[in-house]
Amino acid sequence: MESNLKSMSDLVSLCKRRGFIFQSSEVYGGLGSCWDYGPLGVELKNNVKNSWWKAMTYREDIEGVDASILMHPKVWKASGHIDGFTDPLIDCKICKSRFREDLIDTAAKCPNCGASDCFTPSREFNLMFKTQMGAVEDDSSEVFLRPETAQGIFVNFLNIQSTMRKKLPFGIAQIGKSFRNEITPGNFIFRTREFEQMEMQYFIKPGVQLEFMDTWKQLRWSWHVSNGLRESRMKWAPHPEDKLAHYADVAVDIEYEFPMGWGEIEGIHSRTDFDLKQHEEYSGKNLHYVDQADGNKKYIPYVVETAAGCDRTVLALLCDAYRVENEGDKEKERTVMKFSPQMAPIKVAVLPLMKKVGLEEVAKKIFQDVQIDYKAEYDVAGSIGKRYRRQDEIGTPFCVTIDYDSLEDQSVTVRNRDTMEQSRIAINQLHNYLKDQLKF
Ligand code: ATP
Repeated sequence: MESNLKSMSDLVSLCKRRGFIFQSSEVYGGLGSCWDYGPLGVELKNNVKNSWWKAMTYREDIEGVDASILMHPKVWKASGHIDGFTDPLIDCKICKSRFREDLIDTAAKCPNCGASDCFTPSREFNLMFKTQMGAVEDDSSEVFLRPETAQGIFVNFLNIQSTMRKKLPFGIAQIGKSFRNEITPGNFIFRTREFEQMEMQYFIKPGVQLEFMDTWKQLRWSWHVSNGLRESRMKWAPHPEDKLAHYADVAVDIEYEFPMGWGEIEGIHSRTDFDLKQHEEYSGKNLHYVDQADGNKKYIPYVVETAAGCDRTVLALLCDAYRVENEGDKEKERTVMKFSPQMAPIKVAVLPLMKKVGLEEVAKKIFQDVQIDYKAEYDVAGSIGKRYRRQDEIGTPFCVTIDYDSLEDQSVTVRNRDTMEQSRIAINQLHNYLKDQLKF
């Protein structure tokens, strides 16, 4: 018998207890909806980023970039963010809570205090964070923290196309932090004001966008599945035509079923030539592409983008992995994070059965050898049962136990997280065994 995650608070508490995610500035009482990734969280997040980077840039037609977070203020005028990157904000006049008008039913009662007829008229609230650059504080030094990574790619389109001698179709990929002054952040790391995006803009000839939407929809869906997300908890959510962003002609999201309901983890959007056209107009630079394969025709490329949230992908993986087995059975109950081996923060735990000279030396040597290829943990504290339970809770696929017999037969016991089966493996075969089981 196995049950899934029932509430976000169970996950928040596991993440804190086991070193995945902590409240930011916790010793000062925390900073609302800001989170710090602990030792296991940063491993998991790096695994997500590495998997994405490999899938998206280890191919002939996509190049990577790492653009700066602060950009010329005109970028945001051109992109439409200064005038249009707003959410409709309403306040409850009774309890002063703030809401996004489009996310609640304003005809009903205030979700916080229950008052009725209590909302202020809605007003547009810009989500960009403003700051000052340099020592003088005036309008000319005002800059913004980027609210999306995409614009760093658009303004580098020509640099990358020309230096890397790219022909259409080709893409540019980037992972980086974005900032949005969200009205109602929450649900753990689902909606925060500082978050990481993994975006790729694919530049194509105008007219073929639907074809590339299909290609990228398929690739992005399978990427999430290859990381271990259960397809039964994923769905497509097309944007209705009247809800399309100002730059898009078709858009669809991949949603995951979180404990609080369905939520977007990635968007696949056809952005037309909107952004490059705007940057051409505002910068005065020619951003046309000369298509040598089509009689040197000049045009502004269209763009199909894949925009995934790194933190939301991490959250989906954490929610999906969380299982409780034999709930209520004191002897047999265990919480297991069933990460795929690729996503698991720790791949192998090395556990000497007793703290004894001879045994520890062998165990340390095995730990050092395993660490050459895999992130591993060495644990001597507590009973072996307790140590297994800790590894289950952090999702370690394999535990290697060294016992007295190991000194005699030069073998160890390898325990499988999911089946709990134990196999006796010769120490000199351990590397091959792990490689075979972990499949990388
Ligand atoms: P939402 O409708 O949830 O506000 P969005 O449609 O504005 O999201 P995009 O602009 O398409 O999101 O950004 C791409 C991805 O970035 C999203 O799929 C999501 O995974 C991630 N993302 C966006 N906003 C946040 C946030 N405030 N916190 C964490 N991740 C975010």
